[in-house]
Amino acid sequence: MAVRKVLQYGEKSLREPSKEVHKVSKKIQELVQDLLDTMYAQNGVGLAAPQIGVNYRVFVIDVSTNNEPLNPMVFINPKIIKKSGAIISQEGCLSFPEAYTDVKRYKNVMVKAMDSHGKSFVLEAKDGSLLARAIQHENDHLDGILFIDHCANRFQADEELAKHHLPPIDPDRIIVDEVLENELSK
Ligand code: ZN
Repeated sequence: MAVRKVLQYGEKSLREPSKEVHKVSKKIQELVQDLLDTMYAQNGVGLAAPQIGVNYRVFVIDVSTNNEPLNPMVFINPKIIKKSGAIISQEGCLSFPEAYTDVKRYKNVMVKAMDSHGKSFVLEAKDGSLLARAIQHENDHLDGILFIDHCANRFQADEELAKHHLPPIDPDRIIVDEVLENELSK
């Protein structure tokens, strides 16, 4: 169990794709525990392995609020198997301290993954809930995609990054998802 250093935007591992987990070994379970310890230490809602410099397809989420008991959720080798609807809302990331910007997301997602015991599960998150958005945000980290790549307004995002002394948007990385754009224009 350990609180690990969270990499900041600009550091290489954040843009590297992560490898599948072949076996939920003791090493992976320790990684999960480190992710949880680090996420809670930073008061985050989610944390993905590449954010602590480990490029494996693992992330953790806890959307419980202050007066609720902790509710750690572990996702190993996650796959988003269904997505629909669209929403624009503000997001941040532990790798972008104190920077927030509006991003485009699906409203509803269904994800299939393994838990920390290697047991497979399917989870549905709806209505643009924090959980639905966090699943998309953390899942992206496993492919080297960051929330700013989904920004609703590039100029607003750039201004916010500059304000927090972070590197600017990489325009070539901005994602244009036709399905999502169509949903947003409805
Ligand atoms: Zn993040």
